Amino acid sequence: MRSTKIIATVGPASRDAEMLRGLEEAGVDTFRINCSYLEPHEVLELIQHIRETTPKVGVLVDVQGPKLRTGEVPYTFVEGTEIELTSDMFGFDLHEIGIQSGERVLVADGQIELWITSIRGGDISARVLVGGECAPHRGVNFPDTDVKVSALNEKDYGDIAAAKQGGAEWIALSFVRDAAIIEEVRNIVGDEPRIIAKIERRQALMNLDAITRAADGVMAARGDLGAELSFEEVPNMQQRIAEVAMIEGKVSICATEMLESMRTSHRPTRAEVADVAGAVRQGFGAVMLSAETATGYDPINAVTAMARICEANENHGGHKAFADAHPTESAVGAATAALAQRTGAASIIALTYSGYSSEILSACRPSAQIIAATPSHDVARRLRLYWGVTPLVCPRDSDMTKAVDDAFEASVDEGFVQSNELVVVCASRENLRSTADTIWVHNA
Ligand code: PGA
Ligand code: MN
Repeated sequence: MRSTKIIATVGPASRDAEMLRGLEEAGVDTFRINCSYLEPHEVLELIQHIRETTPKVGVLVDVQGPKLRTGEVPYTFVEGTEIELTSDMFGFDLHEIGIQSGERVLVADGQIELWITSIRGGDISARVLVGGECAPHRGVNFPDTDVKVSALNEKDYGDIAAAKQGGAEWIALSFVRDAAIIEEVRNIVGDEPRIIAKIERRQALMNLDAITRAADGVMAARGDLGAELSFEEVPNMQQRIAEVAMIEGKVSICATEMLESMRTSHRPTRAEVADVAGAVRQGFGAVMLSAETATGYDPINAVTAMARICEANENHGGHKAFADAHPTESAVGAATAALAQRTGAASIIALTYSGYSSEILSACRPSAQIIAATPSHDVARRLRLYWGVTPLVCPRDSDMTKAVDDAFEASVDEGFVQSNELVVVCASRENLRSTADTIWVHNA
């Protein structure tokens, strides 16, 4: 049993139906669509394709936001030279960014480093501190600049509409600066898709508590974070992101370069294994693969490796942050977790309509697996991203005893529990649709 969830990015290497099914089999809980490479109608088509092929897997639509990129043509930056920054070098207007002289520009995800020496009228000069070849459309970061760009552009709104229309479970927002943008998108989409804030700017770290509270989840987007900050700052910040998500009981995702070498190699480096294990121990609820599955040579092998590392390095029961910080909200969930621990139950069966009580249970990080029995396929797909939750779609009888027996039997049929096993049940007796209010030990 694996509690940490796996997100895999779908790309040219993983788009065909057989591969998607193979990735699900290998352990993918949610597929990520990276909007940077797609038009909104293609985003919608891909959601529908994934839905038809792997109907139990969740979909996360990753909206690129104000990601700044180089222009249409490749360019060679020669180290030590003084250059004029032109508008065809960059796919945007440098003046509008609000760049000042003395500030750095990082090109190609930080591989190339420029230093602005002077801004005179329309002319911007820079010294190439670290040179290199730059392909078209590579990421550009301004670690020293208070970048002035709107939070979302027209394409982002198109991608958000596609995510809503396609029924994606999640939207991830890139380069979030504050909680306001999350409220704005929530006003557009309503309760679904749920919203993940990608933490990849210094401003986001400054507003981390408010952003985490406003969002349904956070992602440590270490690629851009490591360029916006210094790379040596990333591990501490990653830990903070995991901790705040734990306290707020939100989904948390550790992303980027986790098994980077597996784009071309059939085994991860030992450092990568330690990185994934570290994220699991820090309490992240999910880990993500990007290029490894989007363009890598063996996506299934990368997912298999990820699943093995997670499973081998999970230590259950060590995190209590959410229950401590939210005693009332967590009361039933924390008591359920404690009851499972005391009785030695390996499984909790949670009857749920909206999924909410299972989300709370997940945040309490019980040592037992959470079997979330819900009549809704949509809720089941969403719950797949929550740490420790195994969704189970089964009809919900209005009679409580029958509903529990049905869920128990379905769990046995799926091989989640043994027919004579003791489990802890968590449900709502008051009103089927309200939050769980009742727990008991179920002895088959
Ligand atoms: P990206 O986000 O892949 O969309 O850039 C992840 C990251 O920056 O780490
Ligand atoms: Mn990014």
